[in-house]
Amino acid sequence: MECQFLGAAGEVTGSMHLLDAGKDQILMDCGMFQGRRKQSDEKNRQFPVDPAKISSMVLSHAHIDHSGRIPVLTRSGFSGRIITTRPTLNALNYMLLDSGHIQESDAQYLNYKSLRAFLFQEEQKKRNKQLSGSEKSKIKRLLKKNPHELDPDTITRLQQQHGLGRIVPLYTMEQARQSLSFIDGYPYDHRISIGHHTTVKFYVAGHILGSAFSLITVKDGKRTKRILYTGDVGRFNKPIIKDPTLIFDEQDRDIDLMIMESTYGDREHAPVKDLGKSMKKVLLETFNRGGSLIIPSFAFGRTQELIYVLHELYKNNEVPGQPIYVDSPLASNITRVFGEHPETYDKETHAAFLEKGLNPFYFDKVRFVQSVEESMALTREQAPHVVISASGMCEAGRILHHLRYKIHNPKNTILMVGYMAEHTLGRRLQELGAQAAENNNAQHPPEVKILGKSYPLAARVENIDGFSAHGDKHELDKLVTESNLNIGKIAIVHGEASQSSAFARHLEQKGHDVFIPAFGDAIAV
Ligand SMILES: [Zn+2]
Repeated sequence: MECQFLGAAGEVTGSMHLLDAGKDQILMDCGMFQGRRKQSDEKNRQFPVDPAKISSMVLSHAHIDHSGRIPVLTRSGFSGRIITTRPTLNALNYMLLDSGHIQESDAQYLNYKSLRAFLFQEEQKKRNKQLSGSEKSKIKRLLKKNPHELDPDTITRLQQQHGLGRIVPLYTMEQARQSLSFIDGYPYDHRISIGHHTTVKFYVAGHILGSAFSLITVKDGKRTKRILYTGDVGRFNKPIIKDPTLIFDEQDRDIDLMIMESTYGDREHAPVKDLGKSMKKVLLETFNRGGSLIIPSFAFGRTQELIYVLHELYKNNEVPGQPIYVDSPLASNITRVFGEHPETYDKETHAAFLEKGLNPFYFDKVRFVQSVEESMALTREQAPHVVISASGMCEAGRILHHLRYKIHNPKNTILMVGYMAEHTLGRRLQELGAQAAENNNAQHPPEVKILGKSYPLAARVENIDGFSAHGDKHELDKLVTESNLNIGKIAIVHGEASQSSAFARHLEQKGHDVFIPAFGDAIAV
């Protein structure tokens, strides 16, 4: 029996591992590669094993870097079942459709761009001179229904007319919808048969709603082997969901191979208990200036934690009760899924909310914005408020419009609550904001480009970093050393090289048998 590493090996995205147990070929996660567009796109389109040979799949949680290639698997000959927890299944109903939608719009935009370049060139040849701005605009208008919406029918027609190749999406919304029928949701702590000799049991991973450690047991004749795949490991003492499991059932304690994430294998997070305090400070400063708070946030997990922390501050009258708007249809849907799974909440959430008859995510100051019209009206709202919107790194989505309308006003605050990857607008705002603060905001505000136009960054930029959904090095260590597991080998995955190797060194010093697989590496179990 062996385990092969086919994604998130030496990097943080594209999680996928294959357990080859003879008749049972079990895939663990089927995540999308993210990052530089061209490179990730190529990796996402080449499925590394024949989907028809996989007998079943186990999914750790609904984040797209773990689940996003499920529609590729299911449309390419896979005929098994995908096993996950119930909350994850419910969340996938929205996450995978949203991903299909993003794939379609990305492909549409790339088709538009290549056709536009082709038409510019043709027109230039015809006129034998560079095109003016207005001549270019005329061509752009031809390909759009209105300034913000492309015209796919015209784009397709012209591409065909000129014999140009078309970019097809990785998968469509319809293919994402079809993939949902392959997925079954089960409760935690139950043994589920997933093959001839193989079972899986899910333990709480504390990372996001529905996230699980997958304990896979293979019984082949007299031999029993256990693989524990952590997926993403959460933090301890975070609001809402239960902490990562440390106590495993007696018969599950001996682990032959643990496949473990290491995103923050070499980092320490700010303590969780300061989240409310930090949030209160930012809110009071902003409201005292008469400004609004803009929070770019991931739709799944981060948004619900923000609502939870705000709800606590509001219900204890610690801050003025200005309205809170959640302006992301995906975040609104995922918040509903949170509301449907109180069995996954921790004791504190039960005590602070449920036992008092309160829902953590719905209270009179929160409004969930649905339509584009409503969202556009909100961008022009002058009275102080809080807006939580996606995307989390300010790369796309409604957050861009809130920034466009509010970034020039020094009364406002842009609050960063997550990791901003390099080359994203979020990272740029963070860096420029830090520079401005160093100069006490005395200098001329720096310019930032949003949707092709320049805006002065006069709003404050603040950061609260305790919201991470991943355990830091101490929390990862805690799972290995403070749990009741007896662990054989540990494969370190899901981390950049520096983080994985630091964490591996740390575990080696404690006497563990550790290795860091590269893409395609396999290990005997
Ligand atoms: Zn995750």
